[in-house]
Amino acid sequence: MKHFLLSLTFLWGLSPAFAQEPAPQKKFQGQGEVEAVPTTPRPVQLQHRTTYHFTDLGVSVSNEFPGARLNGMLQREDTLIAWITAENSPINPSPWYAFKLWAEQPRELYIKLTYEGARHRYYPKLSKDGVHWSALDSAHYQPFRQGDADFGVGSLPEYVRIKVEVGPDTLWLAGQELWNSPRVHAWVDSLSQLDFVRSEVFGESRMGKPMEVMTIGEAKKQNKVVLAISRQHPPEVSGFLAMKSFIETICGDSRLARKFRKQYTLLAIPLMNPDGVDMGHWRHNAGGVDLNRDWSQRHHPETRAVKALLDQRLKADDSQLYFGIDFHSTWDDIYYTLDSTVNTNAPGLIAEWLSSLENELPDYSVNAKGNISAAGVSKNFMYFEYGAESLVYEVGDNTPRPFIQQKGEVAAQQLMRLLLEAD
Ligand SMILES: [Zn+2]
Repeated sequence: MKHFLLSLTFLWGLSPAFAQEPAPQKKFQGQGEVEAVPTTPRPVQLQHRTTYHFTDLGVSVSNEFPGARLNGMLQREDTLIAWITAENSPINPSPWYAFKLWAEQPRELYIKLTYEGARHRYYPKLSKDGVHWSALDSAHYQPFRQGDADFGVGSLPEYVRIKVEVGPDTLWLAGQELWNSPRVHAWVDSLSQLDFVRSEVFGESRMGKPMEVMTIGEAKKQNKVVLAISRQHPPEVSGFLAMKSFIETICGDSRLARKFRKQYTLLAIPLMNPDGVDMGHWRHNAGGVDLNRDWSQRHHPETRAVKALLDQRLKADDSQLYFGIDFHSTWDDIYYTLDSTVNTNAPGLIAEWLSSLENELPDYSVNAKGNISAAGVSKNFMYFEYGAESLVYEVGDNTPRPFIQQKGEVAAQQLMRLLLEAD
């Protein structure tokens, strides 16, 4: 397999989060080799849900809905101080937050976003309905003790102070768009109206939430399989949006998609960690661990359910998992592939696919890094257990949403084309 340590992806917008202007001109190096760690269950601090009333400001703040964290809110003069904490530690520094607020009379309000054991990472987004979001005006955003690194924790401010306009209508404020389990379920339901999409519950999370798989395709014999998963890590909404675009393209009405669905079956698991997503966990499941280290140990119901599902779906002798993709978010767009020593069911597919993305997307350079290790990550599981060509598709936290959508479409089109050509 070719190596794709090519040039930078420069569509990473600084704040405001959806800005189109090119930002840091340095290439994101990605993470190092992932270490294997024990994944036996550990306790978590549950998210308390309540509504805070600040009578002298005439303002109320609530986190009474499934989604990201808010662990405390207190008033200092005309400022509300939000306190955001993780489910347990040590933990990856992904402190996302969400709450809604309203006021008796229209007024301006200052809010400080503060964190325990982390710095401010997710640029604030506002919504009037919890569905449509826009980035906070950067004139109303004040970072404190901003780091000067290009990527990672060192690039972040310690905390921020923002100004919002509140009034009697609810204002939603969140670190990433709100895609909690009810909303993901509604999306799955809407796609399941299509004749060739079937959704079913194949397992339960540790806290008993349903885990759903979509089976997409109309091949008579469903023996050529592609797998897509997302949201092992709750705050990674930009990765989820990439997966959504990818799946919608495969469900689309193009000639290519119709032909693909006659030969291949896509299994899609859009929400791997429903407990973590609805409780606002920074990283872990309700068993207090990173599910993406549990794919070889399988101490948790979420990974065990996927193994049982795939064993069942791929049990026929001539069934093959050709391609597996796991959608995530990080500091910038990057692909983590297998290394060049592997021998998969579709040799060279991902290398060809990545170069086709570079050809099809204007001014786009693929940033990819190959490795394989003993750590129990999903891409290794897909390869070691089922021989799939597999990868982690990482999207930047701030990658402009229209580009996430476009890249997800092109990724699906090129994958369909290459798989059909290989037939
Ligand atoms: Zn992740």
